[in-house]
Amino acid sequence: MRLKDKVALITGGARGIGLGFAEAFVAEGAKVIIADIDITRATKAAEAIGPAAKALKLDVTDLSSIDAVVKAVDQEFGGIDILINNAAIFDMAPIQSITEDSYDRVFDINLKGPLFMMKAVANVMIERKRGGKIINMASQAGRRGEALVTLYCASKAAIISATQSAALALVKHGINVNAIAPGVVDGEHWDFVDQKFAEYEGLKPGEKKKAVAKEVPIGRFATPDDIKGLAVFLASADSDYILAQTYNVDGGNWMS
Ligand code: NAD
Repeated sequence: MRLKDKVALITGGARGIGLGFAEAFVAEGAKVIIADIDITRATKAAEAIGPAAKALKLDVTDLSSIDAVVKAVDQEFGGIDILINNAAIFDMAPIQSITEDSYDRVFDINLKGPLFMMKAVANVMIERKRGGKIINMASQAGRRGEALVTLYCASKAAIISATQSAALALVKHGINVNAIAPGVVDGEHWDFVDQKFAEYEGLKPGEKKKAVAKEVPIGRFATPDDIKGLAVFLASADSDYILAQTYNVDGGNWMS
């Protein structure tokens, strides 16, 4: 029960890695708010987890939605102890075919959203004067560019930088900011990635996933279960001396 009675707000927690965090945090004693644009799925996820989980509709691209959710959680739960900036979207295009629309969408969700979530939640944490933990979801895609993944890679590199700046600004308030950089994690996200590679590279469905799994030294994709332990650690008092870091959970993939 390393997170007993802590209040954790998880963006994009309706499925995938974020849902794995929600389940793990409740198992460690936390109250979890699954804040997702897909409220139907978020509600089902919260119901399946039980009374310690609650779903709220959140669009991280909309500053009024961010403020409303953060205010509602602060008022109902008497503060926010943990924020996980997990919501993100994937996009695929080489530099010569990126569009302004996809730039706006990727950067609105993957960078603007996390930045303004950090701002809103940090201000609540500062006001309540009891510190807190912020975890940003980066990616190995933020460590190294990929020819076909221009915008997503750039947005995740920016999150690594934003994690450092926010951590240095917030340390004096007892708030630790860190990031997690997974490699490849199985789930609906990767089904979509596989399909996109099939369109771009003329592959058959499943071929890209198989090829990628072979490249990972540990020999397989991660599951959300492989990522949750680090998130629990970074959200707990055990990590109080750690800040501004981005940790790889990548099966030894790129050794960056
Ligand atoms: P996912 O696509 O399965 O889930 C993303 C969630 O975000 C969904 O529930 C979706 O409804 C929600 N969302 C999308 N737009 C939103 C918005 N505007 N406001 C609020 N919620 C919104 O993602 P995942 O694979 O579980 O990845 C989770 C995080 O981990 C992401 O930040 C991703 O970039 C990162 N990551 C994933 C992988 C991987 O291989 N899956 C690898 C490295 C990093």
